[in-house]
Formats: sequence, structure tokens, C-alpha cells
Amino acid sequence: MITDTTINSRTTIEPAVDVCVVGGGIHGAGVAQAAAASGLSVALIEKSDWGASTSSKSSKLIHGGLRYLQSADFALVRESLRERRTLLNIAADIVKPNWFYLPVYEGSAHAPWKIRLGLILYRLLAGRNNLGSFKQIPKSDWGKLEGLNTFELRAVFAYQDAQTDDRQLTQRVVKSAAEHGAKLYCPFKFTTAEKTTLGYRVTMTQNDLIKTINCRYLVNAAGPWVNRVADKIDPKPSMINIDLVQGTHIEFSQQLSERCFYLEAQQDRRAVFVLPLKGGTMVGTTEKLFDANPESVSPSADEVSYLTEVVQDHFPHFNHRPNNAWAGLRVLPATEQSPFKRSREVLYGESESYLAIYGGKLTGYRATAAKVMAKVLVGLQMNTTHAVKDTSKIKL
Ligand SMILES: Cc1cc2nc3c(=O)[nH]c(=O)nc-3n(C[C@H](O)[C@H](O)[C@H](O)COP(=O)(O)OP(=O)(O)OC[C@H]3O[C@@H](n4cnc5c(N)ncnc54)[C@H](O)[C@@H]3O)c2cc1C
Repeated sequence: MITDTTINSRTTIEPAVDVCVVGGGIHGAGVAQAAAASGLSVALIEKSDWGASTSSKSSKLIHGGLRYLQSADFALVRESLRERRTLLNIAADIVKPNWFYLPVYEGSAHAPWKIRLGLILYRLLAGRNNLGSFKQIPKSDWGKLEGLNTFELRAVFAYQDAQTDDRQLTQRVVKSAAEHGAKLYCPFKFTTAEKTTLGYRVTMTQNDLIKTINCRYLVNAAGPWVNRVADKIDPKPSMINIDLVQGTHIEFSQQLSERCFYLEAQQDRRAVFVLPLKGGTMVGTTEKLFDANPESVSPSADEVSYLTEVVQDHFPHFNHRPNNAWAGLRVLPATEQSPFKRSREVLYGESESYLAIYGGKLTGYRATAAKVMAKVLVGLQMNTTHAVKDTSKIKL
């Protein structure tokens, strides 16, 4: 067995593990937790901080994704709704239900009857005891909706979903992974991996400190950096052709409402959420193709104006200036379709003893981790001796 041996003053060899996971966002954390809970030895490497990238730049919703019903992604919506129920159970103090108000105007993309049908389907896919109820707000109560613009308003629906603190959720999953024995390396940057007879030899650095670690299986959960990490592996594993799509949120220090609003932007008919956030208001998001280094993603002035306009079109009295804005990157399959219409299903890039996670949702991290684990156990030929641990009972 290899032990923690110093090769020279700056290079150390770490104890070998079954699984090495690169990326400490929600997916890397979820895989590390599931693998450690399943009895495997695990190393989790993060170059910056837990959840510091996409997993702290999301809309912070734990949701089924009502709008994915339009593209008939029923399996994805059902799985996400099931995950919503689990997260409400295991992380009740940071995953909280809320009502989402959805106004329908003359000229809205969907007529009220279609929205009603969508909400019935959403309730059916959620199953019992899973925030399924929805209601139509009577016209006499529209005046109580925080000054919502009622010009050409045809109907307002309200349904339930959940909000969370995405970064804190990620940190809790990392902590749980460590409690199950995963070894954490942060901040350490994955720099290279080379194939060995047993798996991979991975190198990571922190300033001038270099660590190498042998693993039997390598999981690439580097989010927007997924193909940059894959590019550093010898021989190169199979890679999926992706687009990075920037999504910006703005924040107001004033609170518009304690409830959530699901609005349709007049400019392009896209869905935009207006959400309560720590005593203020968060609004998002946008979709803009991005082709630079993920490190440099930042909100543009156009995106900030677009989101501010959506708020002012719907709440004309709320004429504050945003005090903060941030951007994150979605990993979507490269196609000709507009980003809004592309599938949100997770894709997997696989080679021998290696798997990369492309895309996915915060909400579905546990389901994704379970699918990854099933593949890892097959890769390690441990699928007959080990079962993937069900993490739905592990409180976070
Ligand atoms: C604008 C926006 C809104 C969203 N809203 C929602 C929502 O409301 N609900 C929902 O369910 N989902 C939402 N999502 C999706 C969700 O946020 C992402 O699917 C999820 O956070 C991706 O997590 P990840 O772990 O794959 O990536 P990341 O969180 O980006 O983690 C990857 C990590 O890898 C690390 N890394 C990269 N390279 C290296 C290296 N060389 N060495 C070591 N570490 C490395 C990075 O530092 C990073 O921390 C949204 C996404 C976006 C962009």
C-alpha cells in the first residue's frame, strides 16, 4: 500500500484511493458523498472553494422545472420533483417551500388554460405529499400582489416549489462526504492525470506544493471547466461538444415581496424569476453564449438592463437600482437550438476508468450522483460486491 511519502520538499504522494473526484461544486460533492457512503475510499479536489462556482450562482431553486413540461421532458421533471421532496426532508432548514405567482397577460406565450393544464401535470408528476397544490388568484385579489401590473392581465396562478442557499447546500454535502471518510483537498488545482495499469495517477497543486494520488477511477465534475480538465488527461478521454451559456442574476437590497414571481419577459418571452433573497430581491436569469475562460464570466450591462426592465414592466412602482449582479455558466450540449430550448438532461462522457459529468441541475445532484456511482461500481468491477448507498436518508 502506498503511504503519505515525501518525494522531495514540495512533492508528496497521497494514499491511493478507489475514486478521485475533480470539482467541489454540487456534483463533485454529491458523487464524493455517494461513493464514500457506499464504502469506497474517495479524494475530492477543489481549486477554489466548495460551491464557489456555478453552485453558488444558480437561481437557488429546488424545483421540478415547470417550463420543461413545454419540451415534454417528463422524466426529468418527475425526477426533479422527487428530489425536491427528498431535499425538503433531509435539509429542511435550508430548503424551504414557497409560493410562485405566475401572471398571464394578453400576448403571453401561453393561454391561461395551458398554464392550468401544465400545473395539473406538474402536480401529477410530483405525486402525493409533495407541494402539489396550486390555485388561481381571483381578480378581486390582484391588488394584493405587491403592485403587479394589471394592464391586460388575464389570469394569475400560484403554485409551490422550493428555494435554497445553493452554496450552503453544497458545503453540507461536502461535509457529509468527509464524515463518511472522503479526503478533501481544497484549495488544490487538478493539473494532470495519466493512465496507469490500475487507473490514473493524478497530480494537483497548491502554489508550489505538488501532490500526486493514484486512483482506480477518475470522475471529472469540473462544471464549466469539464473539457479543460479532460484536455489535461493522458490519453485524452472522449469529450462531449458543449456550449457554455452565461446566466446573470441581479439583486436589489429592497424586498419586493416574500413570495416568488415567475414572469415572462416582454422583450423575448423568456421566463424570469423574481425571488426574495435574504431581505432583498434577486432576479434572473439570462442566456448568453460564452466562449472565454470560465474564470472570467461576469454580468454585462445589457443583461443588467434587461432584467431591470422585466421587473419594472411588471412592478412599475419598484423603481430601485440593482446593487449587485453575478453570472454563472450552464453546460449545455452544442446544438443549433436557442439555449432556452436545449435539454437540461445530464450527459456523461465515459472512457475506461473515467467518467465526466456534463450539465445537470442543483436539484438533481443526488440522482446524478447515484447514476455516476452505478457506472463507477461497474468500472471498478465492484457492482456485485457493493450497492450504491441510498443517500436520501442522510440528513444534511
Ligand atoms: C444561471 C444559472 C441558474 C441556475 N439555476 C438553477 C436552479 O435554480 N435550480 C437548479 O436546480 N439548478 C440551477 N442551475 C444549474 C446548477 O446551478 C448547476 O447544474 C450546478 O450548480 C452545476 O454544478 P457542478 O458541480 O457541475 O459545477 P460547479 O458548481 O461549477 O463546480 C465545478 C467545480 O470544479 C472546480 N474546478 C474546475 N477546474 C478544476 C481544477 N482544475 N481543479 C480543481 N477543481 C476544479 C471549480 O472551481 C468548481 O468549483 C442553474 C445554473 C445557472 C448557470
